[in-house]
Amino acid sequence: MKGLAMLRIGEVGWIEKDRPSCGSRDAIVKPLALAPCTSDIHTAWEGAIGERHNLILGHEALGIVDEVGSGVKDFKPGDRVIVPAITPDWDSEAVQRGFPSQTGGPLGGWKFSNFKDGVFAEFFHVNLADSNLAHLPDGMTLEAGVMLPDMLSTGFLGAENARIEIGATVAVLGIGPVGLSSIAGAKLRGAGRIFAVGTRPAAVKVAKKYGATDIIDYRNGNTAEQIIEATGGAGVDAVIIAGGGAEILMDAVTMGKPGSVISNVNYFGKGIGDRDSIPIPRAGWGVGMADKDIVTGLCPGGRVRMERLAEIVTYGRMDPSLMATHIFKGFDTLKEALLLMKEKPGDLIKPVVLL
Ligand code: NDP
Ligand code: ZN
Repeated sequence: MKGLAMLRIGEVGWIEKDRPSCGSRDAIVKPLALAPCTSDIHTAWEGAIGERHNLILGHEALGIVDEVGSGVKDFKPGDRVIVPAITPDWDSEAVQRGFPSQTGGPLGGWKFSNFKDGVFAEFFHVNLADSNLAHLPDGMTLEAGVMLPDMLSTGFLGAENARIEIGATVAVLGIGPVGLSSIAGAKLRGAGRIFAVGTRPAAVKVAKKYGATDIIDYRNGNTAEQIIEATGGAGVDAVIIAGGGAEILMDAVTMGKPGSVISNVNYFGKGIGDRDSIPIPRAGWGVGMADKDIVTGLCPGGRVRMERLAEIVTYGRMDPSLMATHIFKGFDTLKEALLLMKEKPGDLIKPVVLL
């Protein structure tokens, strides 16, 4: 079978591999819709998770079940499914501690395009199908559905971890598809004022539709100063980080009120200096005693999470298809879609490939 792979850091190309084999509780799935992620770009071109050879990329997919193992109860060949980006081993120790995305070590629930072939293939393998697949509801468009496996799940986690109270003021740093989903999540959690930080015009438009009340351009001066000034010196109750480089925590922590939560879902591909660090501002963090919590998380996966996100779409709480700005048709267009994600032109939020 054919797949779009990271050949080595900095090089991506088509390769041929054997079709994966199916374990007794697993499934083999054919893609129906695929979307490249910014994480694929960090992985393939920036080496953010280290060197990988001939690893098939991609972890955002809807699919059609092609084969199931003898122990799978709820799925059969022909079923249309949502495939979470994160597919934990649900019987592991980390799950019992309440951290399913971290099974088997840090970020270990993230298997596709990390340490196992991803979904940018004619067929891909899903472990523990009954726990890691969800039925795609009839009537959900592919453009909307393909945002669930990672964008909505990660963006909403940013809002969930930010412990947003009704009426709270929230800043979302970064308005790519993850940050936009965090804005929608913050609104669903009851935020009052929502600052959206970013510049790409297509994203600014959707940020307003999803609930942003103020748009901040980080190129117009220090972001923390702009937001502190706009709040009359108070700062915000919660900050969600969904973009920016290693220095972004400086802004985020500074703009938080005492007692605020800084919720990070950003992927730090690089640190600063010999110690490869991400700096925290000493005074802005209340010299370490201002009750400003920094919380992090990897996208939640699994069946129940996907079913709940599907309810959000089915019952009209938000429309994720607004983020699908570029639609490609056919498996062979996948490389073009991935390269577009790398370039990030101003009219792009997310490319989607329909098969
Ligand atoms: P995008 O690249 O599409 O968006 C990044 C956003 O950050 C853009 O709006 C960009 O602004 C903004 N930005 C850049 N620099 C700054 C700055 N200094 N201050 C504030 N904003 C800034 O990324 P995605 O939305 O696709 O992904 C966001 C991050 O989430 C990535 O790092 C990705 O790897 C990570 N991720 C994490 C996951 C997890 O499980 N935790 C899962 C999936 C993704 P502009 O509008 O000007 O371009
Ligand atoms: Zn991703």
